[in-house]
Amino acid sequence: MPRIFLLLLLCGAALRAAPAPVYVVLWFDTEDYIEPASDDAVLRLARDLDALGARATFKVVGEMARTLEARGRQDVVRALSLHDIGYHSNFHSIPPAPAAYLRELGYLEGAAEFERRESPGLADLRRLFGVTPSCYGQPGSSWGPQSNLALRRMGVPVYLDEGSQVGVDEQPFWYGGLLYVFNMGRFLIRPHLDDDARLEGTLRQFDQAAAELGRRGGGVISTYYHPNEFVTTEFWDVNFAKGANPERSQWRRPRRRTPEDSERTYRILRRYVEHAQKTPGVRFVTARDLLQLYDSPIAPPVDRRRAAEHLAARQTFLVTERGALSAADLLLVLLGLEPQFVDGPTARRQSTYRSNAVPRPVWDRAKADTVAFIRRHHRLPAAVWVGSENLSLADFAATLAGEDPSASSVPVRRGNLELEKYFSTDPAGSFNWLIHPEGFQAPELLELGRLQGWTLKPARLR
Ligand SMILES: [Zn+2]
Repeated sequence: MPRIFLLLLLCGAALRAAPAPVYVVLWFDTEDYIEPASDDAVLRLARDLDALGARATFKVVGEMARTLEARGRQDVVRALSLHDIGYHSNFHSIPPAPAAYLRELGYLEGAAEFERRESPGLADLRRLFGVTPSCYGQPGSSWGPQSNLALRRMGVPVYLDEGSQVGVDEQPFWYGGLLYVFNMGRFLIRPHLDDDARLEGTLRQFDQAAAELGRRGGGVISTYYHPNEFVTTEFWDVNFAKGANPERSQWRRPRRRTPEDSERTYRILRRYVEHAQKTPGVRFVTARDLLQLYDSPIAPPVDRRRAAEHLAARQTFLVTERGALSAADLLLVLLGLEPQFVDGPTARRQSTYRSNAVPRPVWDRAKADTVAFIRRHHRLPAAVWVGSENLSLADFAATLAGEDPSASSVPVRRGNLELEKYFSTDPAGSFNWLIHPEGFQAPELLELGRLQGWTLKPARLR
């Protein structure tokens, strides 16, 4: 057999045997600006992981960056620069928390306020690390959908955190124009730092998760910690529990682990990382890497009839063999607009239009008006004017999807907003966080979140 054929045969066998890629995104919420020992924990983790060849994502709080600078910890900054830098809010637990101020505001106003409050910390990270952070994640459970629009304006493309407010199939998804790694369910794996006996069980859980993702053609496992967990036995921000707002001079330092106990926690993480690295097909990636590994958020081409059939039956994303389209993407297809990212509506409206059909000329003007709105505002309208009455966005979309372009009148159809099933309906549980004021709830943020569900779709590995 000629050598070239043998080579091709071997290559083919290797390709067939290569397991689908399983990406572990290991991230650290780097936030304890009270206990100086946490600075050393950051340094230790950054150096240990570098030595292991595992790049992590350190989401740094603005006040933490300024504190490292003030304490002259250039060694920590240098060690972090070997990894990916994300952003974890400007002050984290000093009130008001993001959800507390965002719930008072609408989508556009909230985005402007988030940008006003959070831009200075992001600028400090840029100055200190020389890069724009790749990702953001909220402090605690203090999430709000307005942050998506603000983060896009601030040049932050990935949302990396955990929470229950929104999720798609326990894997990364596109939402609000950001790549979300969120609500990862059984693909969130975190060896317990306080119980060595549970490590073996967690490693088996990792193996099962990796095997399942391998069978599905690849995916992401999310693992997170806080550097302070490796040196303290309580969180630094108990100072701000239940909305407390003590002066800086009153801040109490958290209780410390003993040096031996700290070593034990570092050992647990090390064993987990080494175990993952030995698993076939598994690679450690950063938030920045994920942007390259996943398809762009711009919708793939789709047959117009297929888009119409889908949107007439259900207003939610459509998964095709070429990638996924959000309900907003599908609406743009039906309106003849070029593929682009647009925000969802900023409010919920009920249809006031009473007739069962819209005369053709009136309907065509309503469509043209909708196209003009989207072109001007880069978002979907809450409702579409049909003369002096209107159709809710959902009813407009269903009607458009079901329209026969040659008919002299267009029968009105009712939408069903199936996309809303991907959102939490628990306004207390989803925002449960020790730092929020007691009894805190944010149903307004879940409602705004559902409205932005028009932009939701699963992300697909390239
Ligand atoms: Zn945090």
